[in-house]
This record gives sequence, C-alpha cells and structure tokens, in this order.
Amino acid sequence: MTHALIIGGGIAGPVSAMALHKAGIGATVYEAYPAPADDVGAFLVLFHNGLEALRTIDAHRPVLDASFPADRVEMLDAQGHGRERPVSGSGTGDGRPVLGPRTLRRSALYRALREEAERRGVAVEFGKRLVAADVGPDGRVTARFADGSSARGDVLLGADGVRSLTRTLIDPEAPAPRHTGQITVCGFSPLVPAEAAPAPGVYRMIRGSRAFLGCTRAPDGAVWWFANTPGGELAPERLAAGTPEQRAGWRDHVAGLFADDASPAEAVVRATGDRIVAFNAYDLAHTPVWSRGPMVVLGDAAHTAAPNAAQGASLAIEDGVVLARCLRDLPLPGEAFAAFERLRRARVEALVDRSARLNARVVPGAGRHADRPGPGAAGGPEAESGDPADRFLHYRIDWDAPVSAAG
Ligand SMILES: Cc1cc2nc3c(=O)[nH]c(=O)nc-3n(C[C@H](O)[C@H](O)[C@H](O)COP(=O)(O)OP(=O)(O)OC[C@H]3O[C@@H](n4cnc5c(N)ncnc54)[C@H](O)[C@@H]3O)c2cc1C
Repeated sequence: MTHALIIGGGIAGPVSAMALHKAGIGATVYEAYPAPADDVGAFLVLFHNGLEALRTIDAHRPVLDASFPADRVEMLDAQGHGRERPVSGSGTGDGRPVLGPRTLRRSALYRALREEAERRGVAVEFGKRLVAADVGPDGRVTARFADGSSARGDVLLGADGVRSLTRTLIDPEAPAPRHTGQITVCGFSPLVPAEAAPAPGVYRMIRGSRAFLGCTRAPDGAVWWFANTPGGELAPERLAAGTPEQRAGWRDHVAGLFADDASPAEAVVRATGDRIVAFNAYDLAHTPVWSRGPMVVLGDAAHTAAPNAAQGASLAIEDGVVLARCLRDLPLPGEAFAAFERLRRARVEALVDRSARLNARVVPGAGRHADRPGPGAAGGPEAESGDPADRFLHYRIDWDAPVSAAG
C-alpha cells in the first residue's frame, strides 16, 4: 500500500490523510469546492472522544487553538427551571486532562485540519469533484473528476459526506439519507441581555415545549446558539445564509417556537440580528455495504447522525484514525476494510440511533428507523436523560495496538 486517494476535504478526509501519513502511507485529498469553503453559519461541538482521536495522531492542538471550552452544562425546562452540572468526562479514568467539549465554527475546524495536513506534507487539491471511479485489472483504482482530470491510487477513501457519490459507486443500491423532519437553525449575537445569556464556560440547554435550544458564550461575549426545530426539508435557496428577509424570518419563526415558554430561549433568539442560518437535518442509519474492492466510505458518507447528539464530526475523526490503523497493518484492502467495519459499525450505528432518539423529542416519531432493527423509538431512558455523559464519550483508540484480520 503506497498511495490513497481521499475524496472530500471536510473532516474525515484530512484526518485520515494525516493518520495514513503517520502510518507511512501517502495520500492526496481531493475536494470538490474550488477553494476552501467559508461556511459562515454552522458551528460544532467536539467532545472528548473526537479530540482524543485527534490526540492519537498529535493533531488536537490546532483544533484546541481554534475553539473555546465549556465545562459545565445547565439543563433548563420550558419554564426556565433546571440545574447546572459539570459536562461529563471530567473523570476520563486515565488520569489525563479532559480535552473537550470545545466549540468552533465548522469552517474553522475544516481549516485547522486541512492546514495541519498540508503542514505535514499532504497535498490537498481543490476543484476536484469526483464523478466516477474504476478499478483496473491490477486492483488499483482511478478516480475521475468533473474537470476531466483523473488520479490513480491503491485505495480510494470516500470521505465525501452525507451526499456521498462514493457510497453509490460502491453500491448503486445504497440507501439515501433521510430528512429527519428537523431544521437546525444557528445564530450568533453579541446583544443577548445579561439575564438571558449563559455564564462563561456554561452550555445552556433548554428543552422548550416546541423546540430545543442550546447556547454558549464565546470569549468575545457573543452568544452562539442553535435551535433544533420541527420542519420539513427546505429547498437549497432557503438554506445557509439566505437573504436578509429570510434570516429575519428564521429569527421570528424560532423565537415564536419559544414564545409560550418562560425560559430565556426566546430572548436569546430575539436578540439576534442577521447572523442566522438554517440547515436541513439528515440521518442515515444503516449503509449495508461500506466497501467494494479498493473503495471504502467513512464519516458521514458511511453513517450520518442527526445533529442532536453532536457527534458526527467526532465520529468522522475516529473513523479516519481507525481506518489508517487498518490499512497500516493489513495491506490487502479487502482485509483492511473488513477490519475497519468490524471495529466501527456497531459503535457508529448506535450513535446514529441515539441521535435519532434525541431528534424524536423535537419531532415526535422521528426516532423510528423503519428500515432497520433496533430500538430507534422515541423517548427511551437514555434519550430522556439528555446526558452526554455516556459510554460514547469514553472511546479511546490505541494507535499502537496491531489490527488483525481475524478480529
Ligand atoms: C446543523 C448541523 C450541526 C452539527 N453539529 C455538530 C456538532 O455539534 N458536533 C458534531 O460532532 N457534529 C455535528 N454535525 C455533523 C458534522 O458536521 C458531520 O458529521 C461532519 O461534518 C462529517 O464529516 P465528514 O468529513 O464525513 O463530511 P463533511 O464534513 O460533509 O465533508 C465532506 C466533504 O466532501 C466534499 N465532497 C462531497 N462530494 C464530493 C465529490 N464528489 N468530490 C469531491 N469532494 C466532495 C464536500 O465538499 C465536503 O468538503 C452537525 C451537522 C449539521 C448539519
């Protein structure tokens, strides 16, 4: 194994490239967008598990530098009553300082990971939209791009996100992601009144009667908030930044969802100017086929969690590191990908399921995945706890442990 073609310069792409580099395997990242995307709106929370996965390849520092912490969480009900407690993971059990949770813009995370990958010698090519891939008689793979160019490698890693083409190149019957019946709206405001703003270092989570709001305070004092709201799938022109009128419309709509409550949620939203963006929330519970020949999917391309558990980016990071370990120790792609699936599938599908349960609080019935077995129903005890302090956060990757084909 000497060279990997990595499709997608988001999160799983640059992380898998860095992890392969650490394993002595070359990689080039091909990103469809012509220039680094400046995603003005979305922000992310990275929990301990994602940051610990980055630490295994010594890539956590740029992400820490680009983000800010919150080490306490305050859960409020629709009446504004609740309690504060430390965010889970304050005891990691291994005596090391806890790295998360950290909040940062998605574009800042993309940039930090990409720049760190480039600093390590990984080539990232922009304007390279994968349109096809074929496998030669020698087992090597050729990626074909929309601009007419192509590239050959030993393996092709599809880190191309929720709308992955790689997924359908591997399996034309692959299921499509499902809209969860939820719209996630993000806003930023320096003008939230003091009595409505969370204290520094606190993540305030408000379970309203009709929607869910989470907010925290950035170091400059601005409040960053997201609201998970019920709503059907939006056309592209209504997403992302939109027009000023659309942004004002989102503010009024979201504020209205909290208007009957006595919590600070409505005040937080009303204090927001035009820095407000909306996103469709999708999930993909089960991709039956993750690999074929020298091609494999990882990150959102393989499993997409609704945003409710705030774990998609962390899972994408974990995938990138684990896949590199598999390719390091098992030079035959088929064996490496089988081991990757063995090590990852149960965990990622459990997390997608958990996110679906949390989503079901916002959209009654949305937690059900009719197409797959398992609980997936609204309102189990785990969902009710709303507690990120669960087994998922304590996942650790042992970089040095050898991966075997047999399991
Ligand atoms: C509103 C919202 C809030 C979220 N909040 C959180 C959170 O708080 N915490 C968290 O952990 N996760 C969160 N997530 C989920 C997280 O954003 C994703 O799980 C994560 O970005 C997945 O990383 P990825 O690398 O697999 O895919 P992506 O980040 O989507 O990257 C895929 C890349 O592939 C590129 N690409 C696509 N097609 C092609 C092609 N044909 N050729 C070349 N390149 C291509 C894309 O342009 C993109 O750059 C949230 C998601 C949403 C929508």
